[in-house]
Amino acid sequence: MSEEIIQNKVDIIVVGAGPAGVSAAITAARGGKKVVLVERAPYAGAKNMYGGVIYSHAAQEIFPNYKEAPVERYISKHNYVLLSDEDSTEISYKNPSHEKCAFVAIRAKWDKWCVQEAVKEGVYFAPDTLVKELIVKDGKVVGITTDVEDFYADVVIIADGVNSLLARQIGLREDIKPKNVALAVKEVIRLAPEVIEKRFSLKEGTGCAMELVGGPLAQMFGMGIVYTNKDSVAVGIGVSLEDLKTRKVKPYELLDAVKKHPFVAELIEGGELLEYSAHLIPEGGYKAVPKLYTDGAMVAGDAAGLVNNVHFEGTNLAMISGKLAAQTALEAFERGDFSSNTLCLYKKMLENSFVLKDLKTYKDVVHTLSGRAGSFLTYYPAKVNEFFSIFTCADGVPKKGNFQKFTKEFFTKRSLSELFKDAIAGIKIVFGILTVSYTHLRAHETEADL
Ligand code: FAD
Repeated sequence: MSEEIIQNKVDIIVVGAGPAGVSAAITAARGGKKVVLVERAPYAGAKNMYGGVIYSHAAQEIFPNYKEAPVERYISKHNYVLLSDEDSTEISYKNPSHEKCAFVAIRAKWDKWCVQEAVKEGVYFAPDTLVKELIVKDGKVVGITTDVEDFYADVVIIADGVNSLLARQIGLREDIKPKNVALAVKEVIRLAPEVIEKRFSLKEGTGCAMELVGGPLAQMFGMGIVYTNKDSVAVGIGVSLEDLKTRKVKPYELLDAVKKHPFVAELIEGGELLEYSAHLIPEGGYKAVPKLYTDGAMVAGDAAGLVNNVHFEGTNLAMISGKLAAQTALEAFERGDFSSNTLCLYKKMLENSFVLKDLKTYKDVVHTLSGRAGSFLTYYPAKVNEFFSIFTCADGVPKKGNFQKFTKEFFTKRSLSELFKDAIAGIKIVFGILTVSYTHLRAHETEADL
């Protein structure tokens, strides 16, 4: 292997050591190929930021020993919180068999661990190496130009994240449109583990993921998050870049407002700020997925816009798309054909996996919701809080009068045409999901019949 690397030609080059890249690299190495994983940061994860949840099924699929990784807390509780100016309503889902589904991990530790595992399985890791561009010969990607030297390979897997300058260089993607990305900002706040467990009502070692809508994020298509690490809490917001631009709102001011909301302020009170970071999240969904392959190259993870915003899933889509890209590359070696004729298998594999099936299921949801953010993410959450403020208060006023006032205001504060548009949007979302789900089901039944 070292001889080949000195000659700067390997079987497969993977650009980017995030979840997509490392999964691609380790899968290719397990298939007996010579793989170089190139990362611009001094170590994997150094430049990477996210909310905090990794999904166990994908982790297990790529790293069967993932429980040895630096996991912060296994998620035992998932809460959805509707905020108004002062009050909040919390929907809490608890699952005692918490290790089943998801855990919180810090990327700087998790990504580093993943790459160490990949190196153990034969991947050559090249940190501190910026890929400046892809080398293209006769229309085929044949290698990379880095700030150190050029490398060549039969296949290049592009996993360089949401901005993916490389996918853009070879025309697989267009420039990012503000409506297709959210800008996220996040703070990590230190708190003692026992304080976290008390405030979030958690058993020792278990964790909580919270998603927040409304309140300071009113009228915008965006959400807040609060996730528990071992001895810190992550608080963040992610808001459509288009909304931030048109409303001229500064993301850090929004985050400050979320932190000051009584619901969040109580959770982080007395904590010490450890870290502040910002990152883009692909938000275009199924309709914005670019061309996924060309002669000699495939695109995986955020670089291909593979994020399911409805479920806050990105790392799992990244890992599985990386794995499928590598499996396609292995098939290309079997066939001795690295052209689009073989690499198109990658798209088919994604279509047959949950990755593109889920994005297809929600293909209209993000767009429809973003058009009605003032309703679904603002007006109705506020109404739910108002309802509970009446329902839970004994103020000596007959309940009937309060409920009549609530109902009257529900229909007068929002015009009939707005209510009608909301109803149409709601039906469109539900109908869209049901139609795609039915199509998936029929396809499964037909496959089973065959
Ligand atoms: P990345 O993780 O972005 O990795 C890309 C890698 O490529 C980086 O290491 C980068 O340094 C490297 N790179 C880039 N350009 C070059 C270059 N030219 N040369 C060399 N290296 C390069 N997903 C979840 O599943 N759960 C969550 O809770 C969650 N929360 C999120 C919260 C926020 C605020 C954000 C921003 C995202 C969140 N996501 C979450 C989404 C998730 O983080 C991404 O979908 C996932 O990280 C994508 O992985 P990736 O490997 O494709 O890209």
